[in-house]
Amino acid sequence: MDTYILAIESSCDETSMAVVKNGSEVIALSITTQMDTHAKYGGVVPEIASRMHTEAITLVLEDCLEKAQMKIEDMSAIAVTYAPGLTGSLMVGVEAAKILSLMYHKPLIAVNHLIGHIYANNLENKMEFPLLALIVSGGHTELLVMEDDYQFKRLGETMDDAIGEAYDKVARVIGLPYPGGPNIEKLAQMGEHTYDFPHPVLDDTYHFSYSGLKSAVINLVHNETQRGNRIRKEDLARSFQDVAIDELVRKVEKALKETGIKRLVIAGGVSANQYLKREMKELCEKYEAELLIPRMLYCTDNAAMIGAAAYPKYLKHEFSSYTLNVSSSADIV
Ligand code: AMP
Ligand code: MG
Repeated sequence: MDTYILAIESSCDETSMAVVKNGSEVIALSITTQMDTHAKYGGVVPEIASRMHTEAITLVLEDCLEKAQMKIEDMSAIAVTYAPGLTGSLMVGVEAAKILSLMYHKPLIAVNHLIGHIYANNLENKMEFPLLALIVSGGHTELLVMEDDYQFKRLGETMDDAIGEAYDKVARVIGLPYPGGPNIEKLAQMGEHTYDFPHPVLDDTYHFSYSGLKSAVINLVHNETQRGNRIRKEDLARSFQDVAIDELVRKVEKALKETGIKRLVIAGGVSANQYLKREMKELCEKYEAELLIPRMLYCTDNAAMIGAAAYPKYLKHEFSSYTLNVSSSADIV
């Protein structure tokens, strides 16, 4: 019998719901973003985010069911992101999921948002194991080995800032609007690598570090501005991006070499970056490894990936009780 999961995602500034069939087929996906509102403040304001989720959630539910041409009664389970993210935002989704689960007698499935990003790949190509998973987002930079569904082993993670965070902060210091990642990428496409930023010095480990690079960029901007020198923003963006992405490439290359695994999955908002995709494609070709990156719609925050990640839990009957709590910082392993 087919499984239909109604999935809910509200961990940051997108309110999203989806109906996903058998963990892989998106029957309907509805997303509303608060990006324009938060852009005015230069970043996500948690209080505004939770209020806007509250306002949006029933509308998103109606829209999603309408698109799916289905009713809640038709669902096999209700899945929801419970962590990590903004506490107030997560609570809106989790409370909605609990109510629907209780009212319609459907099992409740709690999904970790980062695991959701990885399982987004199942919406396009069925993941086969073992695989390497690189998570690159606004809050995380991690390299993992997956031996099987929900079997994670962490190789390394960031010791300080996440890569997306570094993109956002560099963007802010050169006056680009939030979110900075796509804007830095656009500028970088027009620039040359002329500024010499330091590479992080964690070479023989799988750990990442972005705060040194970020500080080097910020210091350079401040020093040049004080001296009255003009900054070539395009070149600065390019020089920063080259180092930031090269750091990922080096660690993934080490992992491909040392583990012998022939499959790489990339997940999280930064995987929308074209330069990252090109570099990783080249690297995977060199090691004859398969590269999986979901299309843009599934790279950024969405509920379809939550439905995909909920499916293995559904099959194993790993359901949550109504005491399910949100958590701002839950690790995968
Ligand atoms: P997430 O945390 O998964 O929601 O992803 C959001 C993060 O991805 C933010 O830090 C964005 O700046 C970053 N991001 C989005 N698009 C790009 C891009 N094209 N290049 C680099 N970073 C990006
Ligand atoms: Mg995310």
